Amino acid sequence: MTARIFAFECGEITVPTDSFLAGEQGSLTVPVPAYLIDHPEGKVLFDTGLNLAIRQHKEELLGPLAATQDVRFPEGADIVSQLKRLGLETYDIRYVINSHLHYDHCGGNQHFPRATVLWQQREWKAAQNPKTWAAGIYIPQDFDHGQELVRLEGEHDLYGDGALVLFPTYGHTPGHQSLRVQLASGPVVLAADCCYLKRTLDYLHMPRSVYRLEEARASVMKLRDLQAGGARIFFGHDPEFWQTIPKAPTAIA
Ligand SMILES: [Zn+2]
Repeated sequence: MTARIFAFECGEITVPTDSFLAGEQGSLTVPVPAYLIDHPEGKVLFDTGLNLAIRQHKEELLGPLAATQDVRFPEGADIVSQLKRLGLETYDIRYVINSHLHYDHCGGNQHFPRATVLWQQREWKAAQNPKTWAAGIYIPQDFDHGQELVRLEGEHDLYGDGALVLFPTYGHTPGHQSLRVQLASGPVVLAADCCYLKRTLDYLHMPRSVYRLEEARASVMKLRDLQAGGARIFFGHDPEFWQTIPKAPTAIA
């Protein structure tokens, strides 16, 4: 069984380049991606972008992190509007996968009360700590909405047919995960933030700060293996890569 992917740009963030590539000067404006995966057994979101509330309440939500994050979140860029343009309603989504629980990856979760949410157990645990809420690293208003939740421990073949396989890519955060999707054209890996940029995959140029550097490097090496095996890697926030892929309503098949 194969699937199709639709890519959405849910706004942009400008951050110090150093936070993506240790030691680099200047700032970098990057897309906030989210993806719909269309599978015959049910539609799946991989990440949900930004919380609508960030337009008015960025400082309250992000706390000390707000100062380093310049967020551009235009009308119509939110995940619900993007799905609407494909003729879909929020209840058409069966599963919401979050790569991890940073604010640019789960801010739209609240709009999918009927979906089942899939996280790694380690990410769930990390997001229970009030100290990380105060630091703006995890924001309960983004992800704590009472949906049915599956806490995974390691790899998970969502529909049992190999079309959508979640796998751990720890290190950026305690429980980061990526998704391998089998398209008719071959495998694609939605890497998310275990690999922000192509430069990180090519040169192992890591961000300034990650949760655990050794795990983060091992995750990048895992992506290299998958790439060597023929998979196309979709980077977490690479503006140049982002220009090269079709966006919804065009499917990636
Ligand atoms: Zn991110």
